[in-house]
Amino acid sequence: MDTQQATNTGPAVKALQVVTTGWAEQHKEHRYGSWMPRLLWVLTSRSWVRLPINAFLIHHRDGVVLFDTGLDPAIATNPNYISQAIGRILVRRIFRWSISEGDALKYQLQSVGVSPSQVTKAVISHLHFDHVGGIADVQDAELIVSEREWAQLSEPHPEREWILREHIEIPGAKWRPIAFDQTADPILERFGGAYDVMRDGAVVLFPTPGHTPGSLSMLVRSDGLPPILLIGDLAYEPNLIFEDKVPGTGDAKTLRESYAKIRALKEDLPDLVVLASHDPAASAILGRTFGEQNA
Ligand SMILES: [Zn+2]
Repeated sequence: MDTQQATNTGPAVKALQVVTTGWAEQHKEHRYGSWMPRLLWVLTSRSWVRLPINAFLIHHRDGVVLFDTGLDPAIATNPNYISQAIGRILVRRIFRWSISEGDALKYQLQSVGVSPSQVTKAVISHLHFDHVGGIADVQDAELIVSEREWAQLSEPHPEREWILREHIEIPGAKWRPIAFDQTADPILERFGGAYDVMRDGAVVLFPTPGHTPGSLSMLVRSDGLPPILLIGDLAYEPNLIFEDKVPGTGDAKTLRESYAKIRALKEDLPDLVVLASHDPAASAILGRTFGEQNA
């Protein structure tokens, strides 16, 4: 046992929380999939479904780890938030925002009694703008992203994939692209590598591509909690993974491969709780699982 373990008693992770950095609406075809090619539903769909833009807090004994940072409310007030004209037009066909200043990550952290300096790491599931909108609010945090996702910034026109350089490469941001190491953990081997965030096995990342090529998921395992899997946008609702229903965005074949691996993980960990970034049920699931006393 090293000194850190000796001095920090109790479970590695004390609690998990979700905060919502605003709401949006997306088309049904976007969330649940469609026979239509993407551009067709983007241009013609009239059905809208509400979704939260969640960020998760993992209260580890060595600091708070965030999973995603949500959406910047400036998207609704700054007409030039997306610098490319085509993106500005398309985004209005794809999303309707319901967000105000108070939804910003800094206020959401405040509302659960967490100061930005307590956040030592922020894991970014993928680089879409509704997951990196709060990075300026956690200036001290190391921003962990997969190397594969980070590589998209060097590919032509990342903005066409909703990866907006102007909101990622901001002054002072401590980005840390990570590679996944070989893992001896039998339940994680199927994912082809893992990254141990806190060096104690309690918070582990692994690749779950499909929504974007470099998307990752986070498994939280600690005494006193059921195993919890945070999947980002791999599915907009976890049940869709178990029904093998892919959304109307991302790479369907790669999504299905990742879904199969998550289903196999669930067989290994029957009490696994899966939480998605845009699932309105996430806060109720966390409330039921961990009670009201979180943190
Ligand atoms: Zn996304």
